[in-house]
Amino acid sequence: MSPEKSQVVADDMVVTMEYTVKVDGEVVDSSEDHEPIEFLQGHNQVISGLEKQLYGMAVGDTKSFVVAPRDGYGERDPDAIADVPRSEFPPEIPLEPGVELQMEDEDGDVMNAVIVSAGEKTIRLDFNHPLAGKELHFSVQVVGLRQATAEELEHGHAHSEGHHH
Ligand code: ZN
Repeated sequence: MSPEKSQVVADDMVVTMEYTVKVDGEVVDSSEDHEPIEFLQGHNQVISGLEKQLYGMAVGDTKSFVVAPRDGYGERDPDAIADVPRSEFPPEIPLEPGVELQMEDEDGDVMNAVIVSAGEKTIRLDFNHPLAGKELHFSVQVVGLRQATAEELEHGHAHSEGHHH
């Protein structure tokens, strides 16, 4: 038996995966739109509900499963809604519901938000992850599997070719 064939997904392995995620029947993310993702299993590089399902899969294996919000992007936090005065937004930003923004907090950290509603004086923002509170319907195929390098284990993430950080 070749070592390649006996390999299955386990902690500290770099997994390359094709995937599609659907929410309410709509595709919200898919590797068909870009390259397969590569990540270090067991290091919280991907949501826990995905990691759990991948253990034991071999290259070529496919699987479909549902990830609950608690194992995905969390439940929606009703406190993550904020009203911001219209005057605080630069004029070039279209202030309409559904527009996604990046806001900087006092510490200079960038947070993603989406406009819920736009009043005359205030803009209501939702800082929840867009997939918070959602059931995620995954279809995945493992397309690559290898042992992580010492450096990858030290960093806690996979290094794609020519992609060091
Ligand atoms: Zn690194």
